[in-house]
Amino acid sequence: MRICFRAGHCRGGDQVQALQQENFGFRRFAGEEELAAARSTGSDDRARRPRVIRFRQQGTGRYRAVVSEVRCCGCGAIVPDVTGPVHAYMPSSPGCWALYCGLEDWKASLSVGHDAPTLVQHLVDSYAAQHSDSPDRRNRQSVAVHLISLCASLEQGIPGARLRQLIGTWTHREYPLLVPRPDAYQLTVRDLADAAEQDRTGLVSDMAAATWAAWSAQHDQIRAWLAAMPGVRPGTAPR
Ligand SMILES: [Zn+2]
Repeated sequence: MRICFRAGHCRGGDQVQALQQENFGFRRFAGEEELAAARSTGSDDRARRPRVIRFRQQGTGRYRAVVSEVRCCGCGAIVPDVTGPVHAYMPSSPGCWALYCGLEDWKASLSVGHDAPTLVQHLVDSYAAQHSDSPDRRNRQSVAVHLISLCASLEQGIPGARLRQLIGTWTHREYPLLVPRPDAYQLTVRDLADAAEQDRTGLVSDMAAATWAAWSAQHDQIRAWLAAMPGVRPGTAPR
């Protein structure tokens, strides 16, 4: 069974809104029969194995369905093999983008005490940096700017609210395709989607740190870009 989101592509807020209107939220549930069948294949690759997926449709109760899973072409996470929209220039599998959009309600529930702007920025930066293998100018720009943002947050302590202002001044320039890219990421949106809501705050921080660490081959370049940006002085945390 494949679960079909709305056909075609949409972008940004419209895309999130479209998914919210569909009201799908995925939570994986691997039943014993499916796990036994998977083990019998002798393969360690979980991609494209049938799994029992438990999902919710708001207002109409909970459902479980057997769906395949696939490895996201961007971040490498194992995600539901569904059809549907993807981001305009962040290359991902539709199931990965659906998991990311499914975190909107959780993001909206964050309070000031959570330092919501920094958490949300860490999530956006990490997801963007993990979907990076397109030569499209907008993707090169997105990956570079969000890695600069991770660097600014993690190494200089610049808060998320300030980063949102600064990022707007960093985007209007040409950035190269960053290679080499990480082979894998320790934490992905799949881990967030699978986690209990109360655990996501810590996971997002860990995801940001792990994503930044995975890009270690590019740290010098990204630090140099950050140091050259208006509003940022090396080693300082501008307010
Ligand atoms: Zn992905």
